[in-house]
Amino acid sequence: MKLHEYQAKDMLSKGGIKVPEGQVAYTAEEAYRVASQLGVGSVVKAQVHAGGRGKSGGIKLARNASEVREVADLLLGTRLVTPQTGEEGVPVSSVLVEEALDISQELYLGIVVDGSLGGDVVMASVSGGMDVEEVAESTPEKLYKLPIDPMIGFQPFQARRLAYLMGLTPNLIREFTSLMINLHKIFSENDCSLVEINPLIVTSDERLLAGDAKIGLDDDALYRHPDLLALNDSEQEEPLESDARKFGISYIRLDGDVGCLVNGAGLAMATMDITRSAGAGPANFLDVGGSADENKVAEAVKIILSDSSVKTVLVNIFGGILRCDVVARGMILGVEELPHINVPIVVRMLGTNAEEGRDILSRSELNVTLVDDMAQAAEAIKSTKYSKSSG
Ligand code: GDP
Ligand code: MN
Repeated sequence: MKLHEYQAKDMLSKGGIKVPEGQVAYTAEEAYRVASQLGVGSVVKAQVHAGGRGKSGGIKLARNASEVREVADLLLGTRLVTPQTGEEGVPVSSVLVEEALDISQELYLGIVVDGSLGGDVVMASVSGGMDVEEVAESTPEKLYKLPIDPMIGFQPFQARRLAYLMGLTPNLIREFTSLMINLHKIFSENDCSLVEINPLIVTSDERLLAGDAKIGLDDDALYRHPDLLALNDSEQEEPLESDARKFGISYIRLDGDVGCLVNGAGLAMATMDITRSAGAGPANFLDVGGSADENKVAEAVKIILSDSSVKTVLVNIFGGILRCDVVARGMILGVEELPHINVPIVVRMLGTNAEEGRDILSRSELNVTLVDDMAQAAEAIKSTKYSKSSG
């Protein structure tokens, strides 16, 4: 789950990190009031779950409160398209109005969970700002990466080392060190998967403030943070992905046309490979999980079928605790709710109550092809695909 910039800055500020003065606004009038209270030049920032706003018209400077009202009015209610969104963009329903700072330097600072290293990694660069992706690509030596030992945690000497590597002036080293320690504390305590401050602003009077803030939270740890879960803005998510989240289904939309319904993440990956080997592409990753019931399976079917790019569905179930007959009944429930959609469904079912499941499906009205193994599944996908394109 992602936070908005204003929510992320609130979290940083509570954790002892300085952020610019400002407030979120949902209307141009509210933006005007915030700017009047600030009483200085302001920056108006579209609040969307995507970066690249600076390059795409989502960040605007304004000299006074009336100008803030004007730009807020222009931004609010539009959809912002940035290099990190699809071409349909994301809706701008709020703006963050902040004091404009006198910037002397833009640094980059981030922490991510690095799966391959098995721990948190701090990343920092003196060349922060809007072109940091390019810095990482063309001059990777300017991006310092520092793994954190999970047994001993983040150590102050590591922060000092980073500060020296980055060539910060002595005045800033102490401040940077305490900021870094606070940042890692925030990262761990909130079960973040990502925190990123870009730019970390050095002002001309040598203060250090978080000019921007991106926070990603580990979905699997959200149950421990009901207060954070309440910050979710589902309007910013892909609608099918937010439906899936509601029902506890792991779902990621992809760009192929074979909808996949699977139990278990490993099997889901293998199923995507099979789809590719059949010369097709998966339209999604979907794992209903091991303890799904009929309703959850029905929701999963509905999510897959609601994706208009899906031309074939591949159901690959290894029945265990989740019995195949339950999957079959759930599939029928789901398909019945979308009677206008009739895409062919290829089903491979093994394990607990597989015979019963297959029987339920073959006696149903569903457009199913039952197969016994993955090779047959690949063949069936190929033939449904070709019969489609020739018809
Ligand atoms: P992003 O493009 O979505 O990452 O949005 P950012 O919040 O990082 O803003 C992009 C750029 O806008 C920053 O790198 C700054 O150069 C500029 N910017 C943001 N806030 C201020 C500010 O208060 N004053 C000035 N002068 N520039 C700002
Ligand atoms: Mn940024």
